[in-house]
Amino acid sequence: MAKQSKTARATIADVEVSTAHWIGGKRVPSNRTFEDFSPIDGSHLANVSAGGAEEANAAVAAARAAFPAWAALGPQGRLPILKRFAEGIRSRREELAAVETADNGSLLSRNREDMVPRAAHNIEFFAEWAAKRQHKPIESPTVTNHVRYDPSGVAVLITPWNSPLMLATWKVGPALAAGNTIVVKPPEWAPLTCSLMADIAHEAGVPAGVLNVVQGIGEEAGAALVAHEDVDRISFTGSTDTARLIGQAAARTITPVSFELGGKSPFVVFADADLDAAAKTVAGQYNNAGQVCLAGTRVLVERSIADDLLGRVRKEVAASKVGDPREGGTKIGPLIHPDAFERVTGFVERAKAAGAEPLWGGNRHEAGALYFQPTMLANVKQDMEIVQREVFGPVLTWQTFKDEDELVEMANGTKYGLAAMVFTRSEQRAWRVADRLVAGSLWVNCFFVRDLAAPFGGSRNSGIGREGGDWSMDFYSDIKNVSILKGSFD
Ligand code: NAD
Repeated sequence: MAKQSKTARATIADVEVSTAHWIGGKRVPSNRTFEDFSPIDGSHLANVSAGGAEEANAAVAAARAAFPAWAALGPQGRLPILKRFAEGIRSRREELAAVETADNGSLLSRNREDMVPRAAHNIEFFAEWAAKRQHKPIESPTVTNHVRYDPSGVAVLITPWNSPLMLATWKVGPALAAGNTIVVKPPEWAPLTCSLMADIAHEAGVPAGVLNVVQGIGEEAGAALVAHEDVDRISFTGSTDTARLIGQAAARTITPVSFELGGKSPFVVFADADLDAAAKTVAGQYNNAGQVCLAGTRVLVERSIADDLLGRVRKEVAASKVGDPREGGTKIGPLIHPDAFERVTGFVERAKAAGAEPLWGGNRHEAGALYFQPTMLANVKQDMEIVQREVFGPVLTWQTFKDEDELVEMANGTKYGLAAMVFTRSEQRAWRVADRLVAGSLWVNCFFVRDLAAPFGGSRNSGIGREGGDWSMDFYSDIKNVSILKGSFD
Protein backbone atom coordinates (compact mmCIF):
# COMPACT_ATOMS: atom_id res chain seq x y z
CA MET A 1 0.00 0.00 0.00
CA ALA A 2 2.80 2.41 0.80
CA LYS A 3 5.76 3.51 -1.23
CA GLN A 4 8.32 5.56 0.61
CA SER A 5 10.25 8.30 -1.06
CA LYS A 6 13.30 10.26 0.03
CA THR A 7 11.52 13.51 -0.77
CA ALA A 8 9.22 13.37 2.24
CA ARG A 9 6.32 12.04 0.21
CA ALA A 10 4.39 8.81 0.26
CA THR A 11 1.95 7.23 -2.14
CA ILE A 12 -1.18 6.07 -0.34
CA ALA A 13 -3.98 4.40 -2.30
CA ASP A 14 -2.46 5.95 -5.46
CA VAL A 15 -2.48 9.43 -3.92
CA GLU A 16 0.76 11.42 -3.44
CA VAL A 17 0.89 12.82 0.08
CA SER A 18 3.58 15.02 1.58
CA THR A 19 4.87 13.71 4.89
CA ALA A 20 6.55 17.02 5.78
CA HIS A 21 5.18 19.92 7.80
CA TRP A 22 3.55 22.87 6.05
CA ILE A 23 4.98 26.06 7.53
CA GLY A 24 4.85 29.57 6.09
CA GLY A 25 3.66 28.29 2.71
CA LYS A 26 6.48 25.75 2.32
CA ARG A 27 7.01 22.08 2.87
CA VAL A 28 9.49 21.67 5.73
CA PRO A 29 10.68 18.15 6.57
CA SER A 30 12.19 17.19 9.94
CA ASN A 31 15.18 14.94 10.38
CA ARG A 32 13.20 12.85 12.81
CA THR A 33 10.17 10.90 11.60
CA PHE A 34 7.48 8.70 13.10
CA GLU A 35 5.98 5.68 11.40
CA ASP A 36 2.40 5.60 10.25
CA PHE A 37 0.68 2.24 9.71
CA SER A 38 -2.67 1.27 8.26
CA PRO A 39 -4.99 -0.40 10.76
CA ILE A 40 -6.62 -2.35 7.93
CA ASP A 41 -3.75 -4.77 7.57
CA GLY A 42 -0.86 -3.30 9.53
CA SER A 43 0.97 -2.21 6.39
CA HIS A 44 3.49 0.61 6.64
CA LEU A 45 2.14 3.80 5.04
CA ALA A 46 4.70 6.50 5.62
CA ASN A 47 7.48 7.98 7.70
CA VAL A 48 6.09 11.33 8.75
CA SER A 49 8.09 14.33 9.98
CA ALA A 50 8.13 14.48 13.77
CA GLY A 51 8.01 18.09 14.89
CA GLY A 52 9.02 19.52 18.25
CA ALA A 53 9.77 22.92 19.74
CA GLU A 54 11.69 24.13 16.68
CA GLU A 55 8.85 23.41 14.25
CA ALA A 56 6.27 24.74 16.71
CA ASN A 57 8.22 28.02 17.00
CA ALA A 58 8.56 28.32 13.22
CA ALA A 59 4.86 27.64 12.62
CA VAL A 60 3.64 30.06 15.29
CA ALA A 61 6.03 32.74 13.93
CA ALA A 62 4.71 32.17 10.39
CA ALA A 63 1.13 32.38 11.62
CA ARG A 64 1.89 35.57 13.57
CA ALA A 65 3.50 37.20 10.54
CA ALA A 66 0.53 36.34 8.32
CA PHE A 67 -2.07 37.48 10.86
CA PRO A 68 -2.38 41.24 10.18
CA ALA A 69 -3.07 40.86 6.46
CA TRP A 70 -5.50 37.96 6.90
CA ALA A 71 -7.36 39.77 9.67
CA ALA A 72 -7.52 42.95 7.59
CA LEU A 73 -9.32 41.16 4.74
CA GLY A 74 -12.46 40.99 6.86
CA PRO A 75 -15.10 38.26 6.53
CA GLN A 76 -16.13 39.41 3.04
CA GLY A 77 -12.57 39.37 1.78
CA ARG A 78 -11.92 35.92 3.21
CA LEU A 79 -15.18 34.45 1.86
CA PRO A 80 -14.16 33.76 -1.78
CA ILE A 81 -10.84 32.22 -0.71
CA LEU A 82 -12.50 29.92 1.81
CA LYS A 83 -15.20 28.96 -0.68
CA ARG A 84 -12.48 27.90 -3.11
CA PHE A 85 -10.89 25.93 -0.26
CA ALA A 86 -14.20 24.10 0.33
CA GLU A 87 -14.56 23.48 -3.40
CA GLY A 88 -11.03 22.07 -3.49
CA ILE A 89 -11.95 19.56 -0.79
CA ARG A 90 -15.04 18.56 -2.76
CA SER A 91 -13.08 18.13 -5.96
CA ARG A 92 -10.62 15.77 -4.26
CA ARG A 93 -13.29 13.78 -2.45
CA GLU A 94 -12.25 10.38 -3.79
CA GLU A 95 -8.58 10.87 -2.91
CA LEU A 96 -9.29 12.23 0.54
CA ALA A 97 -11.71 9.39 1.29
CA ALA A 98 -9.24 6.74 0.12
CA VAL A 99 -6.34 8.19 2.13
CA GLU A 100 -8.50 8.60 5.25
CA THR A 101 -9.64 4.99 5.05
CA ALA A 102 -6.11 3.68 4.55
CA ASP A 103 -4.85 5.81 7.43
CA ASN A 104 -7.50 5.31 10.13
CA GLY A 105 -9.51 2.29 8.96
CA SER A 106 -12.87 4.11 8.80
CA LEU A 107 -15.40 3.02 6.19
CA LEU A 108 -14.55 4.18 2.68
CA SER A 109 -18.23 4.64 1.80
CA ARG A 110 -18.81 6.82 4.84
CA ASN A 111 -15.76 8.96 4.15
CA ARG A 112 -16.81 9.45 0.56
CA GLU A 113 -20.48 10.14 1.21
CA ASP A 114 -20.44 11.82 4.59
CA MET A 115 -17.12 12.83 6.13
CA VAL A 116 -15.35 14.49 3.18
CA PRO A 117 -18.48 16.42 2.09
CA ARG A 118 -18.89 17.50 5.71
CA ALA A 119 -15.28 18.68 5.79
CA ALA A 120 -15.97 20.93 2.80
CA HIS A 121 -19.18 22.13 4.41
CA ASN A 122 -17.29 22.99 7.63
CA ILE A 123 -15.12 25.45 5.71
CA GLU A 124 -17.88 26.95 3.60
CA PHE A 125 -20.50 27.18 6.32
CA PHE A 126 -18.37 29.23 8.72
CA ALA A 127 -17.03 31.49 5.95
CA GLU A 128 -20.64 32.33 5.03
CA TRP A 129 -21.73 32.58 8.65
CA ALA A 130 -18.98 35.10 9.41
CA ALA A 131 -19.79 37.12 6.30
CA LYS A 132 -23.49 37.43 7.13
CA ARG A 133 -23.19 37.81 10.89
CA GLN A 134 -24.68 41.08 12.13
CA HIS A 135 -24.58 42.71 15.52
CA LYS A 136 -27.20 45.09 16.78
CA PRO A 137 -25.97 47.96 18.95
CA ILE A 138 -27.08 47.86 22.58
CA GLU A 139 -28.66 51.16 23.60
CA SER A 140 -28.08 52.53 27.12
CA PRO A 141 -29.50 55.83 28.39
CA THR A 142 -26.30 57.80 27.74
CA VAL A 143 -24.23 55.60 25.40
CA THR A 144 -24.59 53.24 22.46
CA ASN A 145 -22.66 49.96 22.87
CA HIS A 146 -21.17 48.60 19.66
CA VAL A 147 -19.87 45.04 20.08
CA ARG A 148 -16.86 44.28 17.89
CA TYR A 149 -15.57 40.80 17.16
CA ASP A 150 -11.85 41.18 16.46
CA PRO A 151 -9.88 38.14 15.24
CA SER A 152 -8.05 36.78 18.26
CA GLY A 153 -4.65 36.07 16.64
CA VAL A 154 -2.90 32.70 16.32
CA ALA A 155 -4.98 29.62 17.09
CA VAL A 156 -3.53 26.16 17.74
CA LEU A 157 -5.89 23.39 16.65
CA ILE A 158 -5.28 19.83 17.89
CA THR A 159 -7.42 16.95 16.73
CA PRO A 160 -7.79 13.16 17.12
CA TRP A 161 -7.59 10.31 14.63
CA ASN A 162 -11.14 8.98 14.60
CA SER A 163 -12.18 11.41 11.85
CA PRO A 164 -9.09 13.51 11.20
CA LEU A 165 -10.15 15.64 8.25
CA MET A 166 -13.72 16.25 9.38
CA LEU A 167 -12.71 17.15 12.93
CA ALA A 168 -9.82 19.38 11.83
CA THR A 169 -11.95 21.36 9.39
CA TRP A 170 -14.59 21.80 12.08
CA LYS A 171 -12.00 24.03 13.79
CA VAL A 172 -10.13 25.30 10.72
CA GLY A 173 -13.39 26.68 9.23
CA PRO A 174 -14.45 28.99 12.06
CA ALA A 175 -10.89 29.92 13.10
CA LEU A 176 -10.01 31.14 9.59
CA ALA A 177 -13.43 32.68 8.93
CA ALA A 178 -13.10 34.74 12.12
CA GLY A 179 -9.77 36.09 10.85
CA ASN A 180 -7.28 34.05 12.85
CA THR A 181 -4.21 32.36 11.48
CA ILE A 182 -3.70 28.78 12.55
CA VAL A 183 -1.35 25.93 13.36
CA VAL A 184 -2.94 22.49 13.00
CA LYS A 185 -1.42 19.50 14.81
CA PRO A 186 -2.88 16.36 13.20
CA PRO A 187 -3.13 13.06 15.09
CA GLU A 188 -0.02 10.90 14.80
CA TRP A 189 -2.04 7.73 14.21
CA ALA A 190 -3.72 9.23 11.12
CA PRO A 191 -1.84 12.34 9.98
CA LEU A 192 -2.20 12.21 6.21
CA THR A 193 -5.46 13.89 5.17
CA CYS A 194 -4.50 17.02 7.13
CA SER A 195 -1.38 17.19 4.98
CA LEU A 196 -3.54 17.06 1.84
CA MET A 197 -5.75 19.75 3.41
CA ALA A 198 -2.73 22.10 3.45
CA ASP A 199 -2.14 21.55 -0.30
CA ILE A 200 -5.79 22.23 -1.03
CA ALA A 201 -5.81 25.43 1.05
CA HIS A 202 -2.68 26.62 -0.75
CA GLU A 203 -4.16 25.91 -4.19
CA ALA A 204 -7.31 27.80 -3.17
CA GLY A 205 -5.27 30.92 -2.43
CA VAL A 206 -5.03 30.78 1.37
CA PRO A 207 -1.92 32.98 1.83
CA ALA A 208 1.37 31.60 3.12
CA GLY A 209 1.45 31.38 6.92
CA VAL A 210 -2.33 31.57 7.38
CA LEU A 211 -2.71 27.79 7.67
CA ASN A 212 0.25 25.79 9.00
CA VAL A 213 0.48 22.09 9.76
CA VAL A 214 2.97 20.70 12.26
CA GLN A 215 3.12 16.92 12.27
CA GLY A 216 4.32 14.99 15.27
CA ILE A 217 3.72 13.11 18.46
CA GLY A 218 1.29 14.72 20.90
CA GLU A 219 3.69 14.85 23.84
CA GLU A 220 6.29 16.62 21.65
CA ALA A 221 4.75 18.68 18.85
CA GLY A 222 1.38 19.15 20.57
CA ALA A 223 2.91 19.97 23.94
CA ALA A 224 5.30 22.53 22.37
CA LEU A 225 2.42 24.27 20.60
CA VAL A 226 0.09 24.50 23.60
CA ALA A 227 2.92 25.81 25.82
CA HIS A 228 3.91 28.49 23.30
CA GLU A 229 3.79 32.05 24.68
CA ASP A 230 2.58 33.61 21.43
CA VAL A 231 -0.62 31.62 20.96
CA ASP A 232 -4.03 33.24 21.48
CA ARG A 233 -6.44 30.30 21.31
CA ILE A 234 -6.16 26.54 21.82
CA SER A 235 -8.91 24.37 20.45
CA PHE A 236 -8.57 20.69 21.29
CA THR A 237 -10.60 17.59 20.47
CA GLY A 238 -9.37 14.44 22.13
CA SER A 239 -9.29 12.58 25.39
CA THR A 240 -10.08 13.99 28.80
CA ASP A 241 -6.65 12.95 30.11
CA THR A 242 -4.82 14.94 27.42
CA ALA A 243 -7.10 17.92 28.07
CA ARG A 244 -5.88 17.99 31.66
CA LEU A 245 -2.28 18.44 30.42
CA ILE A 246 -3.25 21.05 27.85
CA GLY A 247 -5.28 22.90 30.47
CA GLN A 248 -2.20 23.11 32.70
CA ALA A 249 -0.09 24.52 29.85
CA ALA A 250 -2.82 27.02 28.91
CA ALA A 251 -3.13 28.13 32.53
CA ARG A 252 0.48 29.30 32.51
CA THR A 253 -0.10 31.60 29.51
CA ILE A 254 -3.79 32.40 30.28
CA THR A 255 -4.78 31.15 26.83
CA PRO A 256 -8.50 30.47 26.28
CA VAL A 257 -9.26 26.83 25.52
CA SER A 258 -12.07 25.01 23.79
CA PHE A 259 -12.23 21.33 24.73
CA GLU A 260 -14.27 18.63 22.96
CA LEU A 261 -13.55 15.49 24.96
CA GLY A 262 -14.63 11.95 25.62
CA GLY A 263 -18.00 10.54 26.51
CA LYS A 264 -19.90 7.62 27.99
CA SER A 265 -23.27 8.55 26.62
CA PRO A 266 -26.53 6.87 27.62
CA PHE A 267 -28.77 5.41 24.93
CA VAL A 268 -32.23 5.34 26.51
CA VAL A 269 -35.13 3.26 25.18
CA PHE A 270 -38.59 3.56 26.75
CA ALA A 271 -41.27 0.89 26.40
CA ASP A 272 -43.37 3.09 24.10
CA ALA A 273 -40.52 3.62 21.57
CA ASP A 274 -40.42 2.47 17.97
CA LEU A 275 -38.37 -0.60 18.85
CA ASP A 276 -37.20 -1.35 15.33
CA ALA A 277 -35.84 2.16 14.91
CA ALA A 278 -34.26 2.00 18.37
CA ALA A 279 -32.67 -1.40 17.66
CA LYS A 280 -31.20 -0.19 14.35
CA THR A 281 -29.77 2.88 16.04
CA VAL A 282 -28.34 0.89 18.96
CA ALA A 283 -26.58 -1.38 16.45
CA GLY A 284 -25.31 1.79 14.73
CA GLN A 285 -23.32 2.64 17.87
CA TYR A 286 -20.73 0.12 16.61
CA ASN A 287 -19.99 2.39 13.62
CA ASN A 288 -16.32 3.25 13.20
CA ALA A 289 -15.71 0.23 15.46
CA GLY A 290 -17.21 2.26 18.31
CA GLN A 291 -14.47 4.87 18.00
CA VAL A 292 -16.94 7.73 18.12
CA CYS A 293 -16.92 10.23 20.99
CA LEU A 294 -20.71 10.56 20.89
CA ALA A 295 -21.49 6.84 20.82
CA GLY A 296 -24.30 5.78 23.12
CA THR A 297 -22.23 3.11 24.80
CA ARG A 298 -24.52 2.60 27.79
CA VAL A 299 -27.80 1.13 26.60
CA LEU A 300 -30.51 1.81 29.22
CA VAL A 301 -33.76 -0.01 28.53
CA GLU A 302 -37.14 0.07 30.27
CA ARG A 303 -37.38 -3.33 31.90
CA SER A 304 -40.74 -4.39 30.40
CA ILE A 305 -39.38 -4.38 26.81
CA ALA A 306 -35.77 -5.34 27.51
CA ASP A 307 -35.97 -8.88 26.10
CA ASP A 308 -37.91 -7.76 23.06
CA LEU A 309 -35.42 -4.99 22.24
CA LEU A 310 -32.44 -7.23 22.90
CA GLY A 311 -33.66 -9.74 20.29
CA ARG A 312 -34.04 -6.99 17.71
CA VAL A 313 -30.60 -5.49 18.41
CA ARG A 314 -29.03 -8.95 18.25
CA LYS A 315 -30.50 -9.45 14.79
CA GLU A 316 -29.20 -6.09 13.57
CA VAL A 317 -25.71 -6.74 14.94
CA ALA A 318 -25.59 -10.24 13.45
CA ALA A 319 -26.23 -8.66 10.04
CA SER A 320 -23.44 -6.09 10.46
CA LYS A 321 -20.39 -7.31 8.57
CA VAL A 322 -17.04 -6.83 10.27
CA GLY A 323 -14.13 -6.54 7.85
CA ASP A 324 -12.13 -4.49 5.39
CA PRO A 325 -13.47 -0.90 5.47
CA ARG A 326 -12.77 -0.50 1.75
CA GLU A 327 -15.36 -3.16 0.87
CA GLY A 328 -18.92 -2.08 0.17
CA GLY A 329 -20.84 -4.34 2.55
CA THR A 330 -18.64 -3.72 5.60
CA LYS A 331 -20.26 -2.02 8.57
CA ILE A 332 -17.52 -2.33 11.20
CA GLY A 333 -13.80 -1.92 10.49
CA PRO A 334 -10.65 -2.25 12.61
CA LEU A 335 -9.50 -0.47 15.73
CA ILE A 336 -6.90 2.20 15.01
CA HIS A 337 -3.75 0.80 16.60
CA PRO A 338 -2.36 -2.16 18.57
CA ASP A 339 -2.39 0.05 21.70
CA ALA A 340 -6.10 0.72 21.18
CA PHE A 341 -6.72 -2.99 20.70
CA GLU A 342 -4.94 -3.77 23.94
CA ARG A 343 -6.88 -1.05 25.74
CA VAL A 344 -10.26 -2.36 24.52
CA THR A 345 -9.32 -5.95 25.35
CA GLY A 346 -8.20 -4.86 28.81
CA PHE A 347 -11.53 -3.16 29.52
CA VAL A 348 -13.50 -6.21 28.41
CA GLU A 349 -11.35 -8.68 30.35
CA ARG A 350 -11.56 -6.62 33.54
CA ALA A 351 -15.32 -6.26 33.11
CA LYS A 352 -15.70 -10.04 32.72
CA ALA A 353 -13.56 -10.60 35.80
CA ALA A 354 -15.84 -8.22 37.72
CA GLY A 355 -18.92 -10.24 36.72
CA ALA A 356 -20.05 -8.75 33.38
CA GLU A 357 -21.52 -11.26 30.93
CA PRO A 358 -21.06 -10.85 27.17
CA LEU A 359 -24.43 -11.17 25.42
CA TRP A 360 -22.40 -11.26 22.24
CA GLY A 361 -18.79 -10.62 21.23
CA GLY A 362 -16.05 -10.06 23.78
CA ASN A 363 -13.04 -11.18 21.72
CA ARG A 364 -10.86 -10.48 18.72
CA HIS A 365 -12.70 -10.85 15.41
CA GLU A 366 -11.33 -13.24 12.80
CA ALA A 367 -11.16 -10.42 10.19
CA GLY A 368 -7.66 -9.46 11.35
CA ALA A 369 -5.26 -8.41 14.06
CA LEU A 370 -6.99 -5.14 14.99
CA TYR A 371 -10.61 -6.20 14.52
CA PHE A 372 -12.72 -6.60 17.63
CA GLN A 373 -16.12 -8.29 17.77
CA PRO A 374 -19.07 -5.98 18.40
CA THR A 375 -19.68 -6.63 22.07
CA MET A 376 -22.60 -6.21 24.48
CA LEU A 377 -21.96 -6.66 28.20
CA ALA A 378 -24.82 -7.33 30.62
CA ASN A 379 -24.87 -7.90 34.35
CA VAL A 380 -22.96 -4.68 34.92
CA LYS A 381 -23.27 -2.39 37.92
CA GLN A 382 -23.20 1.38 37.87
CA ASP A 383 -19.91 1.66 39.74
CA MET A 384 -18.03 -0.80 37.49
CA GLU A 385 -15.17 0.54 35.38
CA ILE A 386 -16.89 -0.62 32.18
CA VAL A 387 -19.89 1.63 32.97
CA GLN A 388 -17.82 4.58 34.16
CA ARG A 389 -14.93 4.87 31.69
CA GLU A 390 -14.76 5.50 27.97
CA VAL A 391 -13.61 2.36 26.11
CA PHE A 392 -13.49 3.84 22.58
CA GLY A 393 -14.15 0.51 20.89
CA PRO A 394 -17.15 -1.59 19.83
CA VAL A 395 -18.21 -2.32 23.40
CA LEU A 396 -21.65 -1.44 24.80
CA THR A 397 -23.19 -2.17 28.19
CA TRP A 398 -26.79 -3.25 28.74
CA GLN A 399 -28.74 -2.03 31.80
CA THR A 400 -32.44 -1.90 32.57
CA PHE A 401 -34.53 0.61 34.53
CA LYS A 402 -38.00 0.54 36.04
CA ASP A 403 -39.00 4.23 35.91
CA GLU A 404 -37.82 7.71 34.94
CA ASP A 405 -36.25 8.49 38.30
CA GLU A 406 -34.08 5.39 38.20
CA LEU A 407 -33.21 6.07 34.56
CA VAL A 408 -32.10 9.65 35.23
CA GLU A 409 -29.91 8.55 38.11
CA MET A 410 -28.22 5.89 35.96
CA ALA A 411 -27.94 8.09 32.87
CA ASN A 412 -26.34 10.95 34.81
CA GLY A 413 -24.22 8.61 36.91
CA THR A 414 -20.83 9.10 35.25
CA LYS A 415 -18.37 12.00 35.09
CA TYR A 416 -19.15 12.59 31.42
CA GLY A 417 -21.87 14.67 29.77
CA LEU A 418 -21.28 14.65 26.02
CA ALA A 419 -24.48 13.27 24.50
CA ALA A 420 -27.64 11.30 25.23
CA MET A 421 -30.12 9.50 23.01
CA VAL A 422 -33.74 9.03 24.06
CA PHE A 423 -36.24 6.88 22.18
CA THR A 424 -39.91 7.37 23.13
CA ARG A 425 -43.17 8.21 21.36
CA SER A 426 -44.25 10.51 24.19
CA GLU A 427 -43.31 14.15 23.65
CA GLN A 428 -44.02 14.98 27.29
CA ARG A 429 -41.69 12.25 28.49
CA ALA A 430 -39.02 13.32 26.02
CA TRP A 431 -39.07 16.85 27.45
CA ARG A 432 -39.24 15.69 31.07
CA VAL A 433 -36.19 13.50 30.58
CA ALA A 434 -34.34 16.03 28.38
CA ASP A 435 -34.66 18.61 31.13
CA ARG A 436 -33.07 16.27 33.67
CA LEU A 437 -30.21 14.72 31.69
CA VAL A 438 -26.73 16.24 31.72
CA ALA A 439 -25.54 16.27 28.10
CA GLY A 440 -24.31 18.81 25.57
CA SER A 441 -26.27 17.12 22.76
CA LEU A 442 -29.49 15.21 23.24
CA TRP A 443 -31.01 13.36 20.30
CA VAL A 444 -34.65 12.26 20.56
CA ASN A 445 -35.59 9.34 18.29
CA CYS A 446 -32.50 9.94 16.18
CA PHE A 447 -28.71 10.05 16.42
CA PHE A 448 -25.85 12.22 15.12
CA VAL A 449 -27.94 14.73 13.22
CA ARG A 450 -25.69 17.76 13.19
CA ASP A 451 -26.47 21.30 12.09
CA LEU A 452 -23.42 23.57 12.21
CA ALA A 453 -25.59 26.49 13.31
CA ALA A 454 -26.45 24.65 16.55
CA PRO A 455 -24.16 24.30 19.56
CA PHE A 456 -22.10 21.15 20.08
CA GLY A 457 -19.94 20.25 23.06
CA GLY A 458 -19.79 18.47 26.36
CA SER A 459 -20.66 19.09 29.97
CA ARG A 460 -18.66 17.89 32.98
CA ASN A 461 -15.52 15.96 31.90
CA SER A 462 -16.70 15.95 28.28
CA GLY A 463 -15.54 19.45 27.53
CA ILE A 464 -15.34 23.19 27.92
CA GLY A 465 -17.28 25.47 25.59
CA ARG A 466 -19.42 24.81 22.55
CA GLU A 467 -18.65 24.71 18.82
CA GLY A 468 -21.02 25.71 16.03
CA GLY A 469 -22.52 28.96 14.68
CA ASP A 470 -21.97 31.95 16.97
CA TRP A 471 -20.44 29.76 19.68
CA SER A 472 -17.44 29.06 17.42
CA MET A 473 -17.24 32.66 16.24
CA ASP A 474 -17.23 33.96 19.80
CA PHE A 475 -14.42 31.62 20.79
CA TYR A 476 -12.17 32.68 17.91
CA SER A 477 -12.83 36.39 18.51
CA ASP A 478 -11.65 39.01 20.93
CA ILE A 479 -14.96 40.55 21.86
CA LYS A 480 -14.76 44.27 22.44
CA ASN A 481 -17.49 46.65 23.53
CA VAL A 482 -17.16 50.19 22.17
CA SER A 483 -19.42 52.58 24.14
CA ILE A 484 -19.95 55.95 22.49
CA LEU A 485 -21.45 58.83 24.40
CA LYS A 486 -24.64 59.82 22.66
CA GLY A 487 -24.49 63.20 20.92
CA SER A 488 -20.74 63.53 21.49
CA PHE A 489 -19.75 63.64 17.79
CA ASP A 490 -20.02 66.76 15.60
P1 NAD B 1 -5.66 12.01 22.49
O1 NAD B 1 -6.07 12.94 23.57
O2 NAD B 1 -4.70 10.93 22.81
O3 NAD B 1 -5.02 12.81 21.26
C1 NAD B 1 -5.69 13.85 20.60
C2 NAD B 1 -4.66 14.80 20.00
O4 NAD B 1 -3.91 15.39 21.06
C3 NAD B 1 -3.64 14.13 19.08
O5 NAD B 1 -3.38 14.97 17.99
C4 NAD B 1 -2.41 14.03 19.97
O6 NAD B 1 -1.22 14.03 19.25
C5 NAD B 1 -2.54 15.28 20.80
N1 NAD B 1 -1.82 15.24 22.09
C6 NAD B 1 -1.54 14.16 22.86
N2 NAD B 1 -0.86 14.53 23.97
C7 NAD B 1 -0.72 15.88 23.91
C8 NAD B 1 -0.12 16.84 24.76
N3 NAD B 1 0.47 16.50 25.89
N4 NAD B 1 -0.17 18.14 24.39
C9 NAD B 1 -0.78 18.51 23.25
N5 NAD B 1 -1.36 17.64 22.39
C10 NAD B 1 -1.33 16.34 22.72
O7 NAD B 1 -7.01 11.43 21.92
P2 NAD B 1 -7.19 10.35 20.77
O8 NAD B 1 -6.90 9.00 21.30
O9 NAD B 1 -6.46 10.80 19.55
O10 NAD B 1 -8.74 10.48 20.46
C11 NAD B 1 -9.74 9.81 21.14
C12 NAD B 1 -10.40 10.70 22.14
O11 NAD B 1 -10.94 11.86 21.49
C13 NAD B 1 -11.58 10.03 22.81
O12 NAD B 1 -11.58 10.33 24.18
C14 NAD B 1 -12.79 10.67 22.12
O13 NAD B 1 -13.98 10.62 22.87
C15 NAD B 1 -12.30 12.06 21.90
N6 NAD B 1 -13.07 12.73 20.86
C16 NAD B 1 -13.93 13.72 21.22
C17 NAD B 1 -14.72 14.35 20.24
C18 NAD B 1 -15.69 15.45 20.61
O14 NAD B 1 -16.13 16.15 19.71
N7 NAD B 1 -16.05 15.62 21.87
C19 NAD B 1 -14.61 13.95 18.90
C20 NAD B 1 -13.72 12.93 18.58
C21 NAD B 1 -12.96 12.32 19.56
